[in-house]
Amino acid sequence: MREARTTCPYCGVGCGVLASVEDGEIVDVQGDPAHPANFGRLCVKGSALHETLGHHGRLTRPRVDGVETDWDTALDAVAERLTAVRDRHGAQAVAAYLSGQLLTEDYYVANKLFKGFLGTPHLDTNSRLCMASAVAAHKRAFGADAVPCSYEDLEEAELVVLVGSNLAWNHPVLYQRLKVAKQRNPLLRVVVIDPRVTDTCEIADLYLGLAPGSDARLFTGLLAWMAERNRLDRVYLEAHAQGIEEALAAAREQDASVEAIAADCDVDAERLETFFYWFATHLHVVTLFSQGVNQSSSGTDKGNAIINCHLAGGKIGLPGAGPFSITGQPNAMGGREVGGLANQLAAHMDYDTPGARDRVTRFWATERLVPSLPDGPGHKAVALFEAIERGEVQALWIMATNPAVSLPRADRVRAALEKCPLVIVSECMADADLLAYADIVLPASSWSEKDGTVTNSERRISRQRGILPPPGEARHDWWIVCEVAKRLGFGEAFDYSHPGEIFDEHARLSGFENAGEGRRLFDISGLVGLDRAAYEALAPIQWPVNAAAPHGTARLFTDGRFATPDGLARMLPVRPRPPAQALDAARPLRLNTGRVRDQWHTMTRTGRAPRLMNHRAEPFIELTPEDAAEWGVAEHGLARLAGAGGDYVGRVRVSRGQRRGEVFVPMHWSGYFSGTARMGALLEAHLDPFSGQPESKHGAVALAPL
Ligand code: SF4
Repeated sequence: MREARTTCPYCGVGCGVLASVEDGEIVDVQGDPAHPANFGRLCVKGSALHETLGHHGRLTRPRVDGVETDWDTALDAVAERLTAVRDRHGAQAVAAYLSGQLLTEDYYVANKLFKGFLGTPHLDTNSRLCMASAVAAHKRAFGADAVPCSYEDLEEAELVVLVGSNLAWNHPVLYQRLKVAKQRNPLLRVVVIDPRVTDTCEIADLYLGLAPGSDARLFTGLLAWMAERNRLDRVYLEAHAQGIEEALAAAREQDASVEAIAADCDVDAERLETFFYWFATHLHVVTLFSQGVNQSSSGTDKGNAIINCHLAGGKIGLPGAGPFSITGQPNAMGGREVGGLANQLAAHMDYDTPGARDRVTRFWATERLVPSLPDGPGHKAVALFEAIERGEVQALWIMATNPAVSLPRADRVRAALEKCPLVIVSECMADADLLAYADIVLPASSWSEKDGTVTNSERRISRQRGILPPPGEARHDWWIVCEVAKRLGFGEAFDYSHPGEIFDEHARLSGFENAGEGRRLFDISGLVGLDRAAYEALAPIQWPVNAAAPHGTARLFTDGRFATPDGLARMLPVRPRPPAQALDAARPLRLNTGRVRDQWHTMTRTGRAPRLMNHRAEPFIELTPEDAAEWGVAEHGLARLAGAGGDYVGRVRVSRGQRRGEVFVPMHWSGYFSGTARMGALLEAHLDPFSGQPESKHGAVALAPL
């Protein structure tokens, strides 16, 4: 028996895992006591990782036009057909849709190929659905997409505020850390702000069950309340931020009395004022926010409303203080780092970052090859599929994700994929329903086989190690991309023999011309030059990692300087907006969507472990007993939700944790109840204007018994 260190492939907590390997199989997994994200803890999903493995059901051979073939034939077909589309329709007709499940090295080469050498800006990722609004809020406030905090800040805080986050189910090990911190420090207070009473409320000293979408009203109200009671840190604001007066003026456009804010948020005024008082009178406050904030047509403003309150009170850059966006996926952060969003170029540089296009061009140029970078941003996720629908994008390569389930208007996404002349899918599982739309199927390696790095929510880079060989002819995503690049004539720029070489190039790019004025915060140049053994042994480390911080950086903005040209943080004027998907007589119920504790995404992995299926075995519709009676649906019976784009059939669950007039459905199922349990089909595509993130938390639906 041997033991291998790696990282869990599920959520953004990024727990370290010790895998016990015997006779070529992983027979057990334990939490890695040495990993600073989890110190030996694992949640139920992580502890069942070894139960989800095995070769059954895996894709093991490439397929072209439905016929199994060898790699050379498949890779030649990818290269020839991509070239044909590009020659006929231009580079803008070629696109890629990636995933926060990919490793940073996979992401890096895909971004480099599509933006750098195919010359198309249309490369986006399912992270658009998860945290794009937090990215936009960070950039607007801090001048960089940078999470200021570390997990240890939960242990240092006096007050932890959870907004739109069911931490107990979606980031369970972080929830356990917070629970233990609270047991050790009875003075630590926890506030949960969420329309639903979730398991996270078990540790709440105060719960605010606000009306869906009213978060910005609550936090602009908090800002006005702080100003009214002289609770702003004027000394901090004077030295480190600008925009307080504009932010306050916007906050005061609505009635700033506690009673009016409470009425708008539909919460008890006394409890609301208790929260305001706690927030204003504690310095060490962490506000942890997640998809309940981000998945909104005003998610960026909501993020900035939260950040405004932290800046206004000087509650940032200190131990136990700061706004803390928690990512959903294991490598949403790594994808952001390489430039895997359509509005990014590479290494945290956007198209409008001064000198970025020229800098990246020179960095990627080889002796004979000069990249041809696009001029400006590409289509974000929803817009990308609309471009396919219109016939503008003619070739799409999808890696490690299923947009036909997760995107809003999921049925239109399916129709767009059917229409798209060339769909290439890199996938692990043979039964993934997305394969029905693929012209070319490329079997990819999976967790325990893949080798590279991921970055968790606290900016910590960890190794996900290749422990077992991939089954059959499955290959690593980075290898597949590089083989296609070679066939397209770009081999010189994609001549890697190991993911460590890709990581080295990524680290070099992060530090390339990155000094002095306009310095970029994402800098891991301190990890340049790792040899194979050092890369293999790389211990978890938080960026920035550079000459100034060779051991990484736990906390950002400790000196009060931000990544803006003048070093000052920006407070944004936020004007709260209601959800864009309006309720009416035809669709009178508010739809909320999310994860269940024991499943991950479309269940390709977690669905293989019987004990994980026991928790919630079927898609369901959760609502109050009063709403169940009003709409004539019985607990355990089947019911149908009708949304703008389609239907969803689920088993009725009655819960006192829901608010009246609101229903909750899980996001995981796609092929259940005759394929009618796809939450994406219910949602309209209303997008945040800054981030392009769809409003997945605030649908409008009708309910009827089946
Ligand atoms: Fe994996 Fe997240 Fe559970 Fe940790 S908390 S074991 S990263 S699913």
